[in-house]
Amino acid sequence: MLKIKINGIVQGVGFRPFVFILAKKLHLKGFTLNSNDGLEIEVQGRRDNLQKFIDLLKKTAPPAAKIESFQVKTLPNKGYTDFEIRKSSRNRGLTFIAPDLAVCQDCVREFYDPGDYRYQYPFINCTNCGPRYSIIEKTPYDRPVTTMNEFEMCEYCRKEYENPYSRRFHAQPIACQNCGPKLTFLDKSLQELPGRPIDLCREALKSGKIVGIKGIGGFHIACDATNEMAVGELRKRKNRPHKPFAVMCRVKDVRAIVKCSDSQMKLLKSVKAPIVIIPKNKQSAISGMTAPFNPNLGVFAPYTPLHYQLFNESLLYLIMTSGNINDEPIAVNESELTGLCDCFLTHNRQILNRCDDSVIRPVNNFYINLRRARGYVPSPFSLPVSTVPTLGTGAEMKISFVLTRDRAAYLSPYIGNNNSKATEDFYVETLDRYKKWFKIQPELAACDMHPDYLTTHYANKLTTTVIKVQHHHAHIASVMAEHQLNEPVIGIAYDGTGYGEDGAMWGGEIFTADYSGYSRRYHLNYMPLPGGDAAITYPVRIAYAYLHSSGEETVFLRDISSLEKKTITRQIDNKFNLFQTSSMGRLFDCVAAMLGLFPRITFEAQSAMALEFLCADAPTEKVASYPYELKGCDINIVPLIRAVSKDILNGISKNVIAEKFHNSIIDFTVEAVREISKDTGLKKIVLSGGVMQNVILLKGLIDLLTKEGLSVFYPKELPANDGAVSVGQALIANSQVNIKETRHSLKTRSTGR
Ligand code: ZN
Ligand code: ZN
Ligand code: FE
Repeated sequence: MLKIKINGIVQGVGFRPFVFILAKKLHLKGFTLNSNDGLEIEVQGRRDNLQKFIDLLKKTAPPAAKIESFQVKTLPNKGYTDFEIRKSSRNRGLTFIAPDLAVCQDCVREFYDPGDYRYQYPFINCTNCGPRYSIIEKTPYDRPVTTMNEFEMCEYCRKEYENPYSRRFHAQPIACQNCGPKLTFLDKSLQELPGRPIDLCREALKSGKIVGIKGIGGFHIACDATNEMAVGELRKRKNRPHKPFAVMCRVKDVRAIVKCSDSQMKLLKSVKAPIVIIPKNKQSAISGMTAPFNPNLGVFAPYTPLHYQLFNESLLYLIMTSGNINDEPIAVNESELTGLCDCFLTHNRQILNRCDDSVIRPVNNFYINLRRARGYVPSPFSLPVSTVPTLGTGAEMKISFVLTRDRAAYLSPYIGNNNSKATEDFYVETLDRYKKWFKIQPELAACDMHPDYLTTHYANKLTTTVIKVQHHHAHIASVMAEHQLNEPVIGIAYDGTGYGEDGAMWGGEIFTADYSGYSRRYHLNYMPLPGGDAAITYPVRIAYAYLHSSGEETVFLRDISSLEKKTITRQIDNKFNLFQTSSMGRLFDCVAAMLGLFPRITFEAQSAMALEFLCADAPTEKVASYPYELKGCDINIVPLIRAVSKDILNGISKNVIAEKFHNSIIDFTVEAVREISKDTGLKKIVLSGGVMQNVILLKGLIDLLTKEGLSVFYPKELPANDGAVSVGQALIANSQVNIKETRHSLKTRSTGR
């Protein structure tokens, strides 16, 4: 007899019926059950059939399952006479909760089949698809502990639910039009309107209305992406002048708006169904205001039956943007969005766990994850080192936390982008659930060194040991974790902003680092940042400060008054409200504003994106780069800024300047790394920080550093931005604690000024 333990995403994805059917086919006897450890199987039968059973378990597992570990033990036979599915057993151990899954093609087929029992039922699902994470309250995953609890199964559904040969055997969200959730259509004052909700919704969208649509992990705000007026109105209401909106459309309509490759198409159709950022077609039906000043467009495919219902030949493209106000968490109730929407398509299945859409950007032959949420969370990933139960609290932008224990890490979805009360509530609520689900009571916490982040304040209230971690050290450590590295590396953190140990704002940093500490080898030389973080939305002020302090001409700067200039000059002279920064993000802001791109930005990284996009249209022959100076641990960028000024005054095209600028960054980075590698013998290079989402820079650095004979590691599965710093924080904190315990005094060092 064999005892098999399978760990990973094996619950709520149709694994037990799969095991049952397989065992029956091979005439094996025994049982299978869900435990908190994953899935347990005991089987006895003919030896060749047992071998076949193991092979097929591994090779033909249900599409949404993910096997992390597979243990087999041989035991004496127990005299089983049949194979059965037993009730879940509850005990301690690693817990896996499946992410929300896009509706499967079998369900879609039934949905469109007039002869099917669930024809046109917008909540059709099966063990291979449907909501999971967003509806679960407790583990183990079972209907009474989900928001489906309120709906009593009808006889038809129950028969399928109890039939191991059915695709809906133990599909917890199983439902039909007789027993399951129902749609309603509400006007702007939340009064229900008579008529078929889906028809009313389509009518509203077609007539240019802005509609709140309740989905899996929260609301979308939708409008017809081909309707210029509607898109303009949505921008006004969301107070979002430029930040790109994502467009949802049927898979067959994707290629009419973007240049989608076959592998990108596969990603769009996957169970994760993320938003994928793809180059736009020059001409398309989409309003130019959907993603202005941007050659790319975020597209995603319908991932619930309800989404499928929205589209028809007269409604092809919908903007489906997160239903929230500014950077608040995504809304789960229509009442949170009154004032933004003209009407609502909603339903009576409660969303317990908010979860935004995930965002993926393809780069050559790989993908980078810009937002890790629906389809990805709360799947754990493994760490290169063992940890005590730890909470990494995250940073201030793209807030997410991580809980770790042993070598498992559970990263939260994207929570929010500001320090409002709503963000804090969502943070605390999600953290409480994670602690319960995954049975992790943190004995150690880690937070950013910045004294004023929401996540730092949260950590300060904890009674556990709290380790403060330098932001860029955490960035580097998170990429090391993703690549299972546990050794000293050369880490490059090019970022917007992060609190430095000397109180300056860091962000153009090259460290040698491991989890236990870092040494700051190079950084962009300090430049003056008048007004600190508040100046970040006014790149032209940054440009003025950088130019003025370099003794350069500022006549070409647009949209800055002489009063502003005078104020900034005074701030620099008197060192009043003046911060020092080595941020790479600010250097992009400076150069973009020098080119007159966006004197004022309306979303994070707008300048860096604009400069990146200019390179795409640059001449194909390689242009030179700008001068710089490596001196001590400074990368002096003043010669670069001077040379950019000169090019502007000489009328050199923006495309050429942008490309020369990118080349310069790649050049000085490679030179600095070469120096450090010569000095230390380190050959592993880690790229991290929000600026690494710039594909020109990322590709350039990977190419050139690889040519130098170095191994380059960069963020793929975990976001390069602040969405994953919590992972680095947790590992660094653990190494600090280990150090204290073993009394090795490898303290955090800094060679910065
Ligand atoms: Zn299905
Ligand atoms: Zn039913
Ligand atoms: Fe950062």
